[in-house]
Amino acid sequence: MKEIKRILIANRGEIALRALRTIQEMGKEAIVVHSTADKDALYVKYADASICIGNPRSSESYLNIPAIITACEISEADAIFPGYGFLSENQNFVEICAKHGIKFIGPSVAAMALMSDKSKAKQVMMRAGIPVVPGSDGAIKDIEAAKKLAREIGYPVIVKAAAGGGGRGMRVVEREEDLEKNFWSAESEAMSAFGDGTMYMEKYITNPRHIEVQVLGDEHGNVVHIGERDCSLQRRHQKLIEESPAVILDEKTRAELHETAVKATKAIGYAGAGTFEFLYDQRDNKFYFIEMNTRLQVEHCVSEMCSGLDLIEWMIRIAQGEKLLSQDEINLKGHAIECRITAEDPKSFTPNPGKITKYIAPGGRNVRMDSHVYEGYSVPPYYDSMIGKLIVYDKDRTRAIAKMKVALDELVIQGIKTTKDFHLNMMDNSDFINNLYDTNYLSKH
Ligand code: ADP
Repeated sequence: MKEIKRILIANRGEIALRALRTIQEMGKEAIVVHSTADKDALYVKYADASICIGNPRSSESYLNIPAIITACEISEADAIFPGYGFLSENQNFVEICAKHGIKFIGPSVAAMALMSDKSKAKQVMMRAGIPVVPGSDGAIKDIEAAKKLAREIGYPVIVKAAAGGGGRGMRVVEREEDLEKNFWSAESEAMSAFGDGTMYMEKYITNPRHIEVQVLGDEHGNVVHIGERDCSLQRRHQKLIEESPAVILDEKTRAELHETAVKATKAIGYAGAGTFEFLYDQRDNKFYFIEMNTRLQVEHCVSEMCSGLDLIEWMIRIAQGEKLLSQDEINLKGHAIECRITAEDPKSFTPNPGKITKYIAPGGRNVRMDSHVYEGYSVPPYYDSMIGKLIVYDKDRTRAIAKMKVALDELVIQGIKTTKDFHLNMMDNSDFINNLYDTNYLSKH
């Protein structure tokens, strides 16, 4: 075991603050880097040291690898915590960290490489015996190949960017006459968002649930799962509300899903925290792998609430070479729900950055507000509009919904528009309360 003493957080926003707390609780030093736009952020105030690394634009700060490596060297940080987004899945960055003797708190480049191209990841999973959504075997060469395959698997189909993320570079196609136009528009969206227009195709599963499994692997080959999360409440394929457990699953299917994720983790020799995402088809009680995220996810908190574990602590312990705890020691209970609060108009979901003139965070037993904002803070316009996550935990789903309603009612954010009211409405929505929704619910209602 090689103890990590000083960790540089190569991120911003709520996750920078979230990571900082765990690092300091572990008796380690937390170094933060920030852009000029984030100089007044809370994590900058709380850090053991902070370094300004550039202008507001992400390419000049949070994606600026030379500046981040230099910050590590100046501060003598021995490890980097990447969070989500930014450089968290950048293989080049991981290699550069290794060359500079800096421990990247995350998986190896080899494991990342296996999962980064979503069409290749599906092939890897198929070979490991994991069920995947029927579709192309790898990338699609051209539009003729796309047409041929779509006829074989049957419409509707979904064309997806191999480098995709955040719901971008994806199009659902109902009929052959719409295929070509959708294919090109998804491809050009993927080119501009990811610089990679590689496309693949899948059978479009009508009205699925998005259910994912949190896993941890250590450097000694041990793997555990931390249960599953239901992230079916989405807008444009992006998650808005997440919960754990997925109460739609029966015990047998749940156990199969967990086993499948553990098997998949072992198949790729994965060390670190990761998430296997599946689509669950309620009609025939089947689940299919869609992708793996080789990093911590936004919604990891609901798994923390149900397991009592600190996932960032475990990521750091794994990076130090420690052994994982055993599956028997992980006791999953209760129900947790997370609402993503964004600085957006709750009706149109258009970003609404600006100064927060009044802020009161909710509190009480098992109410957790993971947010970096405070009264007087200005939400900068340059980054993701998420300003916090409200997470509650209780003994079952009904109680958790009731708790979330009270917590949302208590939450006060003035000066900017937020999605608080959208979430409040959802907690009163009978379909949500009765668990009668799927990934397309919001597009239909
Ligand atoms: P991203 O990497 O952009 O998040 P994913 O592959 O994880 O993309 O898919 C995001 C969401 O898109 C899923 O949760 C689901 O709602 C929808 N989706 C993706 N693939 C399919 C499919 N084959 N059938 C139905 N819905 C899909």
